[in-house]
Amino acid sequence: MVAFKTLRALNASYASVVSRINGSPGKPVANPTPCAWQIPESVLAQHSSETAPEDVDVLIIGSGITACSIAYHLLRGARNTSKRGQLPRVAILEARELCSGATGRNGGHLKETPYQEWGALVKKFGRAAADEVVRFRMAHLQQLLGIAESEGIKEIADARLVETTDVYCEPEAWTDAKQKLRAWLEAFPDEKGKWKIWEGAEVKTNFSLSTAVGVITGPAGALSSYRLITSLYAKLLEEFPTLSIDCNTPIETLQGTPLDQWRRPIDPVKPYSCFTYKGSSREIRATHVVHATNGYVSRLLPGFKGKIIPMRGQMTCQSLLPSTTALPGGENRSWSFIWKKGFDYMTVTPEGHYMLGGGWARGTNDGLDAVANCRDDENAVVETAYLSGLLTAMFPGLVRGVQLDAAWTGVLGYSVDSVPWVGEVPEKAAGGRRRGTGKEWVCAGYSGEGMVNAWGCGSALASMLRNELYGEKEVVGLPSVMLVTEKRLKKATLEMMAEDYI
Ligand SMILES: Cc1cc2nc3c(=O)[nH]c(=O)nc-3n(C[C@H](O)[C@H](O)[C@H](O)COP(=O)(O)OP(=O)(O)OC[C@H]3O[C@@H](n4cnc5c(N)ncnc54)[C@H](O)[C@@H]3O)c2cc1C
Repeated sequence: MVAFKTLRALNASYASVVSRINGSPGKPVANPTPCAWQIPESVLAQHSSETAPEDVDVLIIGSGITACSIAYHLLRGARNTSKRGQLPRVAILEARELCSGATGRNGGHLKETPYQEWGALVKKFGRAAADEVVRFRMAHLQQLLGIAESEGIKEIADARLVETTDVYCEPEAWTDAKQKLRAWLEAFPDEKGKWKIWEGAEVKTNFSLSTAVGVITGPAGALSSYRLITSLYAKLLEEFPTLSIDCNTPIETLQGTPLDQWRRPIDPVKPYSCFTYKGSSREIRATHVVHATNGYVSRLLPGFKGKIIPMRGQMTCQSLLPSTTALPGGENRSWSFIWKKGFDYMTVTPEGHYMLGGGWARGTNDGLDAVANCRDDENAVVETAYLSGLLTAMFPGLVRGVQLDAAWTGVLGYSVDSVPWVGEVPEKAAGGRRRGTGKEWVCAGYSGEGMVNAWGCGSALASMLRNELYGEKEVVGLPSVMLVTEKRLKKATLEMMAEDYI
């Protein structure tokens, strides 16, 4: 009887998740939970353009790292290579404050864990594609740290190289991890020497972890992506008069051009009309529209329902009580706590704040309540309670207690086939909106690893746009499995994600 009740409850939970997935993520909700990275807020947080644009070449929806990378590469690239010497008119429209989505609310962990992902990617896409994806992601470490350095914003973004520490908390997960690391290093011999296995007494001596089974260390980065991206926007606005940014401007609807009696687009040059409200109703016409809305993407692109799934993530900012010793490595070490099911992650800021996120697998309904949940105006109480006790449990010899300084949530976009979606949106996936010479584009679906996907995906999308706008033949530089195709849209199913996560 108890088993039957459990089964019925599980069935009801699953059915309710599927119905949420098949619904719309809606617009970003007002009053998101206050996030420690956004204090103090950027001077551009509420930015509006002086003269609201009515007519643009490229309209970008969203203002996170993806939108920033697209604008950065499109405008800088056009200035350097456009044959006409003409800069595209680009408008960025953001529903809330600047960079108030996942980019401004994440864990600040710039980390690819190649050995954990590579085997599954080989199975799914074959060896060559898997190698390409892993190298693309790993390259983000130098790319983002390099941008922070070359743009003079390394200090403000606290962008730094760290030694990352994968802490394995259960024996099954540890055995599996060691096998995966060895297999991956055989395939990537140039990476040998950067990754190290620690077990037995070393785990306690070197990392003060008394209950963990083993540790793997390797290279990663840590930063405030809020400060990196908002600082880059400030630079772009100064440099490019053809760029406008309007915050607090949610896109309500997007329409394609109507057809005339001969079924030809009435306005082939500016086929898109975007409707928004800012004091009064506004219409903006555009040649190209880019969806850089990640977890929210399927609201305006219904063909992405069940392909990119919103997922709510929990973060905390904690300080150690005065009687407690700092964790080994300080700000130059980052952490992942890896369990048989699920993982938690942590970066440490130079001011000594412990930015600890995760707890998903401990969440209500076995974590299912976070799936297709876009309410980042609420905290997840169970995950917050778990994260608040994690450091005292993992480092009993060091941590005597913590103070919870802040807790907030954010919305991630999980790709059901585990790689991002970048490129032109097929007309059908856009709900049949009619286009002329322009197109709709998408760049989204980084799952939990936006910091090692989004910058490169945005750069690739900017190349596609420049090729389209100026007839250039720039190499796009994107792993081909990340391209949007009708075939991939058909093939990608929710079951593929269940295989990866359960
Ligand atoms: C809690 C949490 C922790 C994370 N930790 C890490 C981490 O440590 N490392 C890592 O690599 N990744 C992490 N991620 C994932 C990473 O932050 C994201 O993958 C990445 O920031 C996505 O960037 P984006 O620009 O595509 O989307 P976002 O930053 O979410 O930007 C999308 C924007 O679109 C706007 N928008 C949506 N709909 C509309 C509309 N109709 N009109 C106008 N604007 C709209 C939203 O308001 C939002 O600002 C985390 C994410 C979360 C939520």
